[in-house]
Amino acid sequence: MATAESPSTTICRAPAVSPAHTASAQHSHDSLEPKRRVNTPHVRLCGPHPPTPQGAKGVWGIEPGAAGMGNVPTAVKHCLSYEQLIQDYPWLTHRLREGQSAAVHRYPEFVKVIEVGPRDGLQNEKEIVPTSVKVQLIDMLSETGLSAIEVTSFVSSKWVPQMADSDAVLRGINRLPQVKYPVLTPNLRGLEAAVAAGATEVAVFASASETFSQKNINCSIAESMERFQELIGLARETQINVRGYVSCALGCPYEGNMAPAKVTEVVKKLYGLGCYEVSLGDTIGVGTPGAMATLLESVLKEVPSHALGVHCHDTYGQALANILLALQMGISVVDSSVAGLGGCPYARGATGNVATEDVLYMLHGLGIKTGVDLSKVIDAGDFICKALNRKTGSKVAQACCQP
Ligand SMILES: [Zn+2]
Repeated sequence: MATAESPSTTICRAPAVSPAHTASAQHSHDSLEPKRRVNTPHVRLCGPHPPTPQGAKGVWGIEPGAAGMGNVPTAVKHCLSYEQLIQDYPWLTHRLREGQSAAVHRYPEFVKVIEVGPRDGLQNEKEIVPTSVKVQLIDMLSETGLSAIEVTSFVSSKWVPQMADSDAVLRGINRLPQVKYPVLTPNLRGLEAAVAAGATEVAVFASASETFSQKNINCSIAESMERFQELIGLARETQINVRGYVSCALGCPYEGNMAPAKVTEVVKKLYGLGCYEVSLGDTIGVGTPGAMATLLESVLKEVPSHALGVHCHDTYGQALANILLALQMGISVVDSSVAGLGGCPYARGATGNVATEDVLYMLHGLGIKTGVDLSKVIDAGDFICKALNRKTGSKVAQACCQP
């Protein structure tokens, strides 16, 4: 294969082809013979594929060497990037959409994906990430088609040393006109510093949990609202949009379950103060689709769906299911983090935000438009994982591209 000669070799696993599909292939585009491979810069390469143990099933449950794989070239079995996968098997996305067609009308046509990895992800890193790495990550993400990237946080470096270079990061990135670059600002001092560095959009964060509010931002919920009233008023005077976060929306590490009515109250206040959008944060990733449904039922009575987003961490593996449920209830804004970066310093074992790659794969599979190029996000994830010397938290990136 021509691809085997490319200099940037990454081993990728191939998708298997369902025998059931082989039997039912009807359309010309259903051919199992992949289109002739063209060497593109995006193609990730194959190395030797580890032999599948006897009797073990491959990806999507097919027996290795089963009838459906018979006419698929070996190299294809061994290696496909996501982009190559779609190129070689165009019926794949078609099939996914066909399977979902009965339900598609319930989903939004377009979902805005807000990338929070550079802030929410990196702020949990113990080792200080060089400013140049942060800037390069954000610049790579800017090229993916994402419309919003949360770049940093103007908090005291005493509290979050990782964000001490917020000014340099915001000034250092190459801003594209079609991309928004919000920054987190916990107080007026943060807002002033952010504006001085050129911020055009900021975010504030309140908590639905009194205890979490005290531990995280050192004040009660009521005090935080007073603080935000002044901050939001000032920001809006200078044409700066403000986004709101409500943390612990589906559970608190100190108080456990959160009453939907209490969360709703905080969301409503932030919206009323002038936040154009409020993101419901499952900060510690304990929520389930049932809890998400109950919460949204309550919140949607007070705040319109177009002004809400969801921010799901994947600690208990529920993030995609929670997002799917939120989409079904009319939400069309999803926060996510490239490579699943992140965690929560207040919750032992809490993993990062849901990975942007995984969210995009699900959305595109549902036929929902995002305007984002998944393969470019995978590249950005690969870059930051190498810089941090860690494995990606994205299942999609793991499946498409194993180093
Ligand atoms: Zn988060």
